[in-house]
Amino acid sequence: MIRKILMAIITFPIKILKGVRDWFLHTFKNLHLSMRKRIATEYLIVYSLTGLFTILLVPFVFVFFEIDESSDDVNNKLNQYFVSYIEEIYDVEALEVKINQVYIIEDVSLSVIIEENGEITTANTGEFLKNMFPNNPWEYITNIFNRGLIAKKISKYTLYNEKTNREIIFEIKGYYSIVKYKLEIVTLGSILLVFYSVGFVFISMIGGARVKKVLSPIFHMTKIAEQISVSNLNMRLDIESTKYELKDLAITLNDMLNRLDKDYGKQKSFVSDVSHELRTPISIISGYASMLERWGKKDEEILNESIEAIKGEAGNMQQLVENLLTLVRSDNQTLKYEPTDFDIGKQICSIVKEFNMVNTKDQYITCESKEGICVHLDEAKIKQTLRIFIDNAIKYTPENGGIKIKCYDIDKEVYIHIKDTGIGIYKEDLPYLFERFYRSDESRTRQTGGHGLGLAIAKVMIIGHKGKIKVKSRIGKGSEFIITLPKILDDNI
Ligand code: ADP
Repeated sequence: MIRKILMAIITFPIKILKGVRDWFLHTFKNLHLSMRKRIATEYLIVYSLTGLFTILLVPFVFVFFEIDESSDDVNNKLNQYFVSYIEEIYDVEALEVKINQVYIIEDVSLSVIIEENGEITTANTGEFLKNMFPNNPWEYITNIFNRGLIAKKISKYTLYNEKTNREIIFEIKGYYSIVKYKLEIVTLGSILLVFYSVGFVFISMIGGARVKKVLSPIFHMTKIAEQISVSNLNMRLDIESTKYELKDLAITLNDMLNRLDKDYGKQKSFVSDVSHELRTPISIISGYASMLERWGKKDEEILNESIEAIKGEAGNMQQLVENLLTLVRSDNQTLKYEPTDFDIGKQICSIVKEFNMVNTKDQYITCESKEGICVHLDEAKIKQTLRIFIDNAIKYTPENGGIKIKCYDIDKEVYIHIKDTGIGIYKEDLPYLFERFYRSDESRTRQTGGHGLGLAIAKVMIIGHKGKIKVKSRIGKGSEFIITLPKILDDNI
């Protein structure tokens, strides 16, 4: 209970201070000041508080130093007296006369306490306040304000009395009146007040303008940001006119705009590529539909040709849409990987066998892979990826060319090489090879089919398996794609 009451007493002033602070912050917030005014006001508040503190503190510090100096004088005067006093008889009255002389000169109420052989004798000036020597700081401060007095333990000596062969301890205590420093305190306080007031006016006038100047790049940035939209994503913030952290902010925002601009550009070209890829099959389908409408209903040959073409183009569009969906799912991180245990060496050889059976070109595809390379990966996706690479190798390798597929494992990784003796890829095309809808000019002109999405999808799948791809190519000599995959993919990906 007592503890609770004590706690309540201790926390009460803190609660009041907190309340005052909250009220102040709330009021300040409700003023809805602009950033500039807010900063200027906050500076003025801090300045005023510092000023107030200095005005109150400096005069008192000055008085303390004055008193300290005076106590040194008192000490010197009495010290000489004690030495001669000890050689004579103890005469408290004579000592009192002496300290009264010092009192008159130095204007300090003194008390000298003499202790010899456990016996205590005291000599006081007439006005010394007995039992009022404060022991704790609070009492000390109240004494200053209530009585205008500063108590000071001036010094303590131990002297040796040769006559009695005993030690005598002298202790001097004094009370200084700060009232006599009133003029100095008021003068010093007033001078400081004048200086601080001038500073206040100066800061209020100059400070606001200065803050406005410092913040002007922000206003400028806001204006530019208001103007930026998708139609002018190429606008940038002015970095030259900004400084310090605002310069960093402008650079960061410009970097962000660069990224947005680039991504938006990619998005735009993606949409235009998709439209472009869809236009051909749609116009073929609509062309055949018109032909059927006009002549084909009764002509079986036209009818069959149209059905074949429409089916082919529909399949083409379906493939495109499926590829796009795979890429969109990968972007949205919703492409699921379902790893199972299988023999990748065996799988590669069976894919090569399938290709050899359906490949109409005069090429021979060889598989150099030992069986028994067991992996824990998404079998369907690995199959799809390998088909993309082998399909490309077939597409871009002329008749009589050769395609070699090799698979081996080292430690925890599997390496797959797909090497052809085809047309090769230009060095400058290599960085873009895995981008969506990227097709080198060579392959565009050759009408090899495809939409330029195969390698983009293969990359998504390999990265999804935490694997890597490397390409080596020489024009006219052929290309080699090297895929590295970890043997085990975590189930919870
Ligand atoms: P596409 O459907 O056009 O084949 P891909 O994404 O699979 O799309 O390939 C992108 C481009 O990379 C191709 O258009 C072609 O220019 C080039 N390319 C891919 N594989 C090979 C290869 N084995 N030899 C030569 N060029 C290739």
